[in-house]
Amino acid sequence: MKIAPTSRALYLTLLACLAVPAHAEWVQRVTDGIMGTRITVEIWADDKDKADRAIDAVLDEMRHIDDSMSTYKPTSEVSQVNAKAADGPMPITKELFDLLTTAKEYSVITEGAFDITYASVGYMYDFRKRVRPTEGQISKALPAVDYRHVLLDRKKQTVQFSQKGVRIDLGGIAKGYSVDRGIDVLKALGFTRAYVSAGGDSRIIGDRFGKPWMVGIRDPRKAAGEVITRIPLVDAAISTSGDYERFFDEDGTRYHHIIDPHTGHSASKVRSATVIGPSATRTDGLSKTAFVLGPEEAMEIYNRIDDIDAIIVKLDGSVIFSKGLEQAH
Ligand code: ADP
Ligand code: MG
Repeated sequence: MKIAPTSRALYLTLLACLAVPAHAEWVQRVTDGIMGTRITVEIWADDKDKADRAIDAVLDEMRHIDDSMSTYKPTSEVSQVNAKAADGPMPITKELFDLLTTAKEYSVITEGAFDITYASVGYMYDFRKRVRPTEGQISKALPAVDYRHVLLDRKKQTVQFSQKGVRIDLGGIAKGYSVDRGIDVLKALGFTRAYVSAGGDSRIIGDRFGKPWMVGIRDPRKAAGEVITRIPLVDAAISTSGDYERFFDEDGTRYHHIIDPHTGHSASKVRSATVIGPSATRTDGLSKTAFVLGPEEAMEIYNRIDDIDAIIVKLDGSVIFSKGLEQAH
């Protein structure tokens, strides 16, 4: 991650005034409905039609990821895996194989806090309908939650679940992945300045002509527009997880969409966690950790990883920063 120092920003701004092509402009499109979230694509382009075609290509790529990875779609590849992988090794696409491999790596890095088999219990929650499993249902399903149940054979490109009852859900990493794929599409088409976001996961390439992009981090207990801080970013990804995204309150307890793989209950040790790093797959995969492990333990992990920074809003509303950001302040 690079945070542009002010003096350098000023210098680049002066340079950029000379370098901006005559008819170039920022082209932005906001689309709802893919992966159940809001997608924003913004690119600097010297031709509006070319920009529109590029944004179409980004959205097509995201629709493809939604079609193959959503557990809401019974025909998706992931739904097929959930239906059949306990019966024996099942061949899957390279794309899914690679993402499952990455997901398992994040389980190891986060000491089991990030675990796509959370869904073995998680599928019984419906936050919109205020539905949650009983204690009996949770304890019966909980043994199936363990990323080590997902057996991957790279040579044969197969996945197998080691026992019945295991389910996976890529909801904690697929949006970040789709943002990275969107950025890849734009880079391949020659764009050098762009912003792509899907829900809480965003990535930026380039800057805004000498100025960094300013990305706001929402205050978890205030209206959507209110931010606790703004972070200047150039060539970086940023993901925020919050307990305010998908939740219901009952008898003073908040039930929300991040599940502690060890208990099967909502993981509620922080209000929000923001992770900044080189790719959105990575920042998405790491932003849930603080909810499960708590602010101090999670920050230790974030500080241990060289290319990661983090901002955590604790339960009392106080905010803590990773070492890299403390130094930058
Ligand atoms: P968003 O979906 O807005 O990007 P997050 O990045 O915080 O929000 O991801 C939340 C999603 O992560 C949940 O809706 C669920 O699909 C998935 N999830 C929940 N608990 C875990 C967990 N312990 N490990 C991995 N993924 C999880
Ligand atoms: Mg996310």
